[in-house]
Amino acid sequence: MKNNIHPEYNDTTIKCACGNALEVGSTKKDIRVEICSKCHPFFTGKQKLIDTAGRIERFKRKYAKFQK
Ligand SMILES: [Zn+2]
Repeated sequence: MKNNIHPEYNDTTIKCACGNALEVGSTKKDIRVEICSKCHPFFTGKQKLIDTAGRIERFKRKYAKFQK
């Protein structure tokens, strides 16, 4: 048996931008995520727009070129 070949394993809380917190075991501490299983559209079933405003803006700019 070799000891000390694994990184330290801690109980870590992943904090999501939506306010949800998940207790996990990880070698990292204080993980922050933009999206989690609680707020991801796939899990919530709501097509809530994540960065969609930015995409629409980009689309409009792209489309504007064709109108000139
Ligand atoms: Zn979340």
